[in-house]
Amino acid sequence: MIRRTVIFFLLASTSIVIFSFNKKEDESAARQKVIKTIIVDAGHGIMANGGHNGAKGAYSYEDEICLAVSKELVKKFSNEMPEIRIVESRPTEKITALHRRAEIANENKGDLFICIHVNAAVPIKKTEQIGTKKVTYYVGKGKNRKKKTKEVPQYRTYTIPNPAKGTETYIWGSHKNEDKEVAMRENAPMLQEDNFKVNYGDIDPNSPEFFALSLLKTKQYFKRSATLAGFVQDEFAKVGRIDRDVRQRGVGIWVLQATAMPSILVETGYITNRSEEDYLNSKEGQKEIADCIIKAVKTYITWLEKQQKENGGENNGATTRISTSEMAAFLRRIEEDEQKKIAR
Ligand SMILES: [Zn+2]
Repeated sequence: MIRRTVIFFLLASTSIVIFSFNKKEDESAARQKVIKTIIVDAGHGIMANGGHNGAKGAYSYEDEICLAVSKELVKKFSNEMPEIRIVESRPTEKITALHRRAEIANENKGDLFICIHVNAAVPIKKTEQIGTKKVTYYVGKGKNRKKKTKEVPQYRTYTIPNPAKGTETYIWGSHKNEDKEVAMRENAPMLQEDNFKVNYGDIDPNSPEFFALSLLKTKQYFKRSATLAGFVQDEFAKVGRIDRDVRQRGVGIWVLQATAMPSILVETGYITNRSEEDYLNSKEGQKEIADCIIKAVKTYITWLEKQQKENGGENNGATTRISTSEMAAFLRRIEEDEQKKIAR
């Protein structure tokens, strides 16, 4: 009996091991289907003249923190998702030119572009009265001219550190009237792809068909970028970081618009806030930030898999299909409401 029980447990545990191993294999295989390459972009860096580029805190520099967090992120990615290829656009302390970062991302056919930055807020100007001063003045003219004195307040201005803190994740937002231009910029790299004709068909890049396709791609990037950015902020909120939300920027973040893939820029915290500077420089802080981003990427991949399953592949007019099914669901809801009304 004992022997049989032992054999039973042995068999049971072996099958659990095999099952969980298979499940893990399946998960990584599934992940690789939607995301093959992620570009990790550490912001700023040391310039040719040896100076730091980026924001400055009381004792540290933005580029140092960006690199440390990025390295943590890369390490975690290779540990937890070894099936995904990670490319670093700024692997050392030396700065990488902005256009080069986008080139690296596009050349490596990244599926995601994650920029790591550190925020800074300008010191707050304050004014206070430090006393008064006697000043002389005259009233009247000629014989009636009289000398008078009065006390006037004296002020000094000074600055205090800006208390702003928390995380923000930026995506590149496009305005409607810019859509066309955006699409062209965003999708120019499509033309350089080896199998362009296979992937996109034999169409003229200046044709309305190409614009329509470009627009579709841009919208997919936008939705994906915004979704991932939301997941990143959710994870930060879970660990108690102040969530300053997802923000869109039309100008200023060139890399986000130059990369032909969903892209986000994470402002991991404020270097100008002393306690945040300590957090950003600590190993625990850097690990926590990397952890939040990895979790968000995992959630994003699950979301993307679901989207693709529902839409039957990404190049199949996903946008129209989404709206069609949304419309169908909407109509169903109206119908159901009508049924309820009738039943009452
Ligand atoms: Zn920065």
